[in-house]
Amino acid sequence: MVRINQNFLKLPGGYLFPEIGRRVRAFSAQNPPKPLIRLGIGDVTQPLAPAVVEAMVKASKEMGEKETFRGYCEETCCAYDFLRFAIRDSYGEREVDIADDEIFVSDGAKSDCGSIGDIFSVDNVVAVCDPVYPVYVDTNAMSGRAGEYDGEKWTRLIYLPCTEENSFFPDLPAGPAPDLIYLCSPNNPTGAAATKEQLKVWVDYANANGSVILFDSAYEAFISQSGIPHSIFEVEGAKTCAIEFRSFSKSAGFTGTRCAYTVIPKELEREGVSLNALWSRRQGTKFNGVPYVVQRAAQAVFTPEGKAQTRAAIDYYLNNAKVIKEGLTAAGLTVYGGVNAPYLWVKTPNGMPSWDFFDLLLKKACVVTTPGAGFGPSGEGYIRVTAFGDADATVEAVERIVSVI
Ligand SMILES: *Cc1c(COP(=O)(O)O)cnc(C)c1O
Repeated sequence: MVRINQNFLKLPGGYLFPEIGRRVRAFSAQNPPKPLIRLGIGDVTQPLAPAVVEAMVKASKEMGEKETFRGYCEETCCAYDFLRFAIRDSYGEREVDIADDEIFVSDGAKSDCGSIGDIFSVDNVVAVCDPVYPVYVDTNAMSGRAGEYDGEKWTRLIYLPCTEENSFFPDLPAGPAPDLIYLCSPNNPTGAAATKEQLKVWVDYANANGSVILFDSAYEAFISQSGIPHSIFEVEGAKTCAIEFRSFSKSAGFTGTRCAYTVIPKELEREGVSLNALWSRRQGTKFNGVPYVVQRAAQAVFTPEGKAQTRAAIDYYLNNAKVIKEGLTAAGLTVYGGVNAPYLWVKTPNGMPSWDFFDLLLKKACVVTTPGAGFGPSGEGYIRVTAFGDADATVEAVERIVSVI
């Protein structure tokens, strides 16, 4: 008889968003006085850029003609040169030298962050930030790397608290160094963005200890301040210790279109083995690439028109972030993030538990947010507000929140 992967039974059952959904449905059933404004889930709302749509239409037509039809992509690791070269050049524009065969195009940073564990031993000790994007934790739990869930934490994970005291950037842990270290900057959920100096500390630590940093820069396009690296490879020494995950999801509105990429430098070796070669082997076996039409769409993001149009959408979200930050700060709340990220990390008033503040905003203001405690123990005392909403609705949400706190 088949036996299942018992690790799945240890997972605490997708607690956060299902529980939010349950509370929102229960409240909606009681005919709320105002329509709900949703500033909870991290999904984009602006349509694709015209340049991207044009590229998709053109590519779709090519697929309908015998001469230009494409089947399996046979170029490097299921990605077309036109896209890998465009990505390589975009790194070059920031003076980061990445070779095209260090770039792996995929259908999402979520799946890459989740699947990267395939190339590492299950014995590795994993460190995650707290609060954290839950994908890093749950995927390691599924593969047996997280130990047991004790109701709050996993016994084999090292949690790196990100709090007001350390400006939401983790300090090096005391004790033995973890093997795999997940860092996300600009951060989901806190909206904090690491400086080069902050990242350098971790790069040096990883190189000294033989650790690997798994660096998620899904939100790099939202960086608005200078001096904040867009890539960990802007930091000296990172090529021998880091893997970078990037995505078109938030930078170009591809959450429903699906395209991302992972960069693994050829210098990155552990136990004398190239991690680039291992990932290439893994992808070649388990993955057959992103649709041609979508790769053409992603390529269009790097054209002058594509850049200007996607920039306009990001500026739209960053303006929402500014409206939220200024409005809530003026009302006396303490608000972090929102400058280099589409997330605002808002301290609850008077130390109110985050689920209580969530409920208050839902019931009194009819605004849906995300309770910080859902992202890990150190998220208690905060809520996450997203800037991905409609601009007018965001203005109204801020007015409503201000009137009930
Ligand atoms: C949204 C998001 C991603 C992007 O995931 P895709 O699968 O590319 O849509 C990656 N990391 C974080 C932290 C995110 O919030």
